[in-house]
Amino acid sequence: EDAAHDPGAGLDGRTLGAGGDLGCFSFFSNKNLATGEGGMLVTGRDDLAEKLRLLRSHGMTSLTWDRHQGHAYSYDVTELGYNYRIDELHSALGLAQLAKLPAGNARRRAITRRYWQALDGLGLGLPFRHDEREAESACHLFPMLLPEGVDRQAFIERMRAAGVQTSIHYPPVHTFSYYRHRYPRVSLPVTEAVAARQVTLPLYPGMDDQAVDLVISSVKHVLKSEKTSWN
Ligand SMILES: *Cc1c(COP(=O)(O)O)cnc(C)c1O
Repeated sequence: EDAAHDPGAGLDGRTLGAGGDLGCFSFFSNKNLATGEGGMLVTGRDDLAEKLRLLRSHGMTSLTWDRHQGHAYSYDVTELGYNYRIDELHSALGLAQLAKLPAGNARRRAITRRYWQALDGLGLGLPFRHDEREAESACHLFPMLLPEGVDRQAFIERMRAAGVQTSIHYPPVHTFSYYRHRYPRVSLPVTEAVAARQVTLPLYPGMDDQAVDLVISSVKHVLKSEKTSWN
């Protein structure tokens, strides 16, 4: 389960990342829990845990630390492994970030609700706005769909002129050069039509209400003032 966006989130009473044999989290710098680079795998299966511990450290049966402690004077290599060990400094950062995660996620949820309430009824697509499931989202991003016919590039530029950075999550994978060359005949018209309307608004725990309201009023202003030129 790819739970890169979702540390601390839950759905229908279960913790995200714990739904399959393996869950993975990203601690890249723009994620809810950041160590700069790095990530975490979780599993409830002892056999997988054992194999992963081997793979992350060159397939070696003992760690340098153990040998140093006198627990093992030699070792074997039983897998073709990697160096995927997180280091002490980044782990320390991660522990400090972990303590801040619940408050950060709560703030993200509050901002999301504020956006939802203020942006309802403008013809914007607001994913999960009316989702009935028992969900505690990590609210990693605030993606939305512009009304059909709105020029996204013009919207983004006018938002920028108002001092608001927006982004796109995500360009469809099949439109990237590598995939276009590898799978030249792939056409996904529905994906392309939806993706062309997608814009993401700023969302981060340190964002105060004033900043959120500036984004909201800018969206309203840009949509309203440009409506005539788009139609
Ligand atoms: C960020 C992200 C990844 C990649 O994580 P890395 O730590 O950069 O490898 C994978 N899946 C999703 C959904 C992500 O958001």
